[in-house]
Amino acid sequence: MTYAAPLKDMLFVIRELAGLDAVRKLPGFEEATDDTVEAVLAEAAKFNAEVLAPLNRSGDLTPATVKDGVVTTSPGFRDAFRLFAESGWQGVLHPAEFGGQGLPKLVATACNEMLNSANLSFALCPLLTDGAIEALLTAGTDVQKQVFLPKMIEGRWTGTMNLTEPQAGSDLSLVRTRAEPQGDGNYRLFGQKIFITYGEHDMAENILHLVLARIPGAPEGVKGISLFIVPKYLVDAQGGIGKRNDVWCASIEHKLGINASPTAVLVYGDDRGEVGAGALGQLIGEENRGLEYMFIMMNAARFAVGMQGVSVAEGAYQKAVAYARERVQSRAVEGSSGPVPIIGHPDVRRMLMTMRAYTEGARALAYVAAAAADAMHASPEQAVAAAAAT
Ligand SMILES: Cc1cc2nc3c(=O)[nH]c(=O)nc-3n(C[C@H](O)[C@H](O)[C@H](O)COP(=O)(O)OP(=O)(O)OC[C@H]3O[C@@H](n4cnc5c(N)ncnc54)[C@H](O)[C@@H]3O)c2cc1C
Repeated sequence: MTYAAPLKDMLFVIRELAGLDAVRKLPGFEEATDDTVEAVLAEAAKFNAEVLAPLNRSGDLTPATVKDGVVTTSPGFRDAFRLFAESGWQGVLHPAEFGGQGLPKLVATACNEMLNSANLSFALCPLLTDGAIEALLTAGTDVQKQVFLPKMIEGRWTGTMNLTEPQAGSDLSLVRTRAEPQGDGNYRLFGQKIFITYGEHDMAENILHLVLARIPGAPEGVKGISLFIVPKYLVDAQGGIGKRNDVWCASIEHKLGINASPTAVLVYGDDRGEVGAGALGQLIGEENRGLEYMFIMMNAARFAVGMQGVSVAEGAYQKAVAYARERVQSRAVEGSSGPVPIIGHPDVRRMLMTMRAYTEGARALAYVAAAAADAMHASPEQAVAAAAAT
């Protein structure tokens, strides 16, 4: 086994430091009992160890590939994503109203820690989908929520975050993708986005791109950027899939690691689809407030990427311990008849203990922050919500 979730440590932090008792008292989280949380985490541990961890190394050695705009993910990823979706893992955090499990972020954070420890390349797809779901929940219309959210939460459609362009990385005021109003509530998008995580892949029926773009005549800089939802395949009012939209993968990046995660260059408006020139999309929220909405996704992504640090540290610690138990070298400091496993040497133990202490400390910090996010969103007491937000 390449990864075994540290369930005892996780449950200790959830109960004793992050305060599951208090989180459970928040409206909507009553069902997050000790038994339920323990059972959810045990299932997640099993799924990640058995299904995703075995694909981690093979995914990195056999990256996603692209041919004529079609991305084929690493062997095993499609089936694993289907199992992930069928088991309800995309919905842990999201409202029951749209088909999710409605569990606290505290619990979802532990699930995400396991996902990222087991297979970070895979985990990036649900991570971006989570962010897109949060953005739609906050800024989408009721119709947009009804049409898009259930499929995303079910794991049938995935989400992306389209900010970056060749000239607009850290400085998003330079975004140039344009969205032309069609007079019927739709917009047509033209432009190029780069570095789009899971911007194209074969693991889901449809991909919903959340795209920053400018409407002609909008103010210069960050105050003139709007947010759009642009599906790979058009979606009707009942959530049925229709024509191929005009958004295309031009290439995927070669990276040092997370090779199984396709990071795509996307071209909007190449006139190659079934809808004419310009990718059809809908505005999310109000015009020119796109960056504000996108920050919902970016903040969700920032927290999730921070958790990746904990996950990778835990994975590295487990591998270091396994190696230190196996590698035999030098006699024991207290004397031995022959060489001993290096875990017996005090300095090796010290290094392992340091890794463990940093990992446990970072996990505790992250889970406490997740519990604060739960209180911030769900507490009916304004003072409690405000305190949790700081
Ligand atoms: C694996 C991967 C996945 C990604 N996924 C996505 C995605 O899904 N969607 C998406 O939209 N983007 C994605 N990105 C893009 C990412 O958001 C950008 O890389 C990031 O915004 C930085 O932009 P840049 O690479 O152009 O760097 P630059 O903006 O060119 O920055 C280069 C360096 O200069 C520094 N710098 C820039 N401006 C300043 C300043 N004013 N003061 C001090 N330092 C500064 C930066 O910190 C950095 O160190 C991804 C990137 C990677 C590597």
